[in-house]
Amino acid sequence: MKPAPFGYERPRHLQAALALLAETNGSAKIIAGGQSLGPMLNLRLVEPELIVDITGLSELKQAERDGDELVLGACITHADVEDGRIPDITRGAMQGVAAGIAYRAIRNRGTLGGSLSHADPAADWVSALAALGARLTLRSSAGARIVAMEDFVVGALEPALRPGEIVETIRIPARPASAHWGYVKSCRKTGEFAHAIGAIRIDPSAASARVVIGAIDAAPMVITNASDLFGGRIAGDYKARFDARVADAILAKAGVSDAAHRHIHVSVLKRAVQEAAA
Ligand SMILES: Cc1cc2nc3c(=O)[nH]c(=O)nc-3n(C[C@H](O)[C@H](O)[C@H](O)COP(=O)(O)OP(=O)(O)OC[C@H]3O[C@@H](n4cnc5c(N)ncnc54)[C@H](O)[C@@H]3O)c2cc1C
Repeated sequence: MKPAPFGYERPRHLQAALALLAETNGSAKIIAGGQSLGPMLNLRLVEPELIVDITGLSELKQAERDGDELVLGACITHADVEDGRIPDITRGAMQGVAAGIAYRAIRNRGTLGGSLSHADPAADWVSALAALGARLTLRSSAGARIVAMEDFVVGALEPALRPGEIVETIRIPARPASAHWGYVKSCRKTGEFAHAIGAIRIDPSAASARVVIGAIDAAPMVITNASDLFGGRIAGDYKARFDARVADAILAKAGVSDAAHRHIHVSVLKRAVQEAAA
């Protein structure tokens, strides 16, 4: 099948892109890497009047440190992260996630902003960046706002983007040496979309832990204070303290009614905890 006819613009400046999006009042679609939008156009799941190609916007390809945060433009690709072309503020965590996404041709084109905006619950960045505590800058012609990753994906394929808004940057906090990281995706073949994702950023010295249970057919479950999963206390022996029953109860409460599915998610999360502690 071929896409329905559409107009095409490739602006050179962010302000021009935002003006186009404002003018078209929701009937335009942004294209970045095209790795998700391309198939959706071909299947006519979306039929926009206009496509605004943002790959020419140098503003969205910047990677710079701002204090304790790394600020990445939305058009940074998975391969940029995998190949270490951005500062490694997460001490290898993002690089490991990037390398496990799809296969190289997709990683060359697919972007962080595109992956987050597509808001597929099974996508890697949606869970990983929530666990890392990232925030997004969303910009429209009316101004900018900052949204925490856990508030950005509100449902399957449902980002918290308003009409005319674009993901401009992703702000990722530095991971200190004391903060351990575990990320496990379960899929049948390497590089496939996940059936279950477990992600954890845990810092026993700061008694803090963020846990994400992802690929659950809805927005990922982001547990920003995960002490209940570890017997009420985040300490150095957290691997031994991980309580699978609490994880199972959280999933059941969130509506994951199939015990076998819950078992897979809990096992994957347990492996992520073990990876963090290794
Ligand atoms: C065969 C295959 C396997 C894959 N496997 C995986 C996998 O294992 N893990 C994984 O995480 N992903 C996987 N993907 C998805 C891939 O990572 C895509 O890169 C990603 O989903 C979309 O990024 P993109 O830059 O191509 O966005 P596009 O396809 O260009 O856009 C996707 C959506 O986001 C919107 N959009 C794009 N950029 C912005 C922006 N800056 N602001 C606002 N809206 C924007 C578009 O309008 C569109 O709605 C796979 C894709 C394919 C085709």
